[in-house]
Amino acid sequence: MKLTKDQVKKLRDEGKTLEEIGSIAGVSKQRISQLMQQWNLPRFKKEEPICPWCTSRNVYYRIKLANFICRHCGRVGKRSQFIKGET
Ligand SMILES: [Zn+2]
Repeated sequence: MKLTKDQVKKLRDEGKTLEEIGSIAGVSKQRISQLMQQWNLPRFKKEEPICPWCTSRNVYYRIKLANFICRHCGRVGKRSQFIKGET
């Protein structure tokens, strides 16, 4: 089975690990990792927080308010807005 970018992306969205995707496609997880890099897909669910408005990574988390604040543009948002791939 030959995997396409869309298939891999869909499997990742379903929460499959690289190993699981590899076993579906009959290739190693290293190969999946390579492909994802080629296709510019995020290889890890968890990403560094990034400001969705100005794309600055200069953000900080306020535990008390449970939100992120951008040092660059000053906007405040929810965790899911600042961390892509997390819902
Ligand atoms: Zn910002």
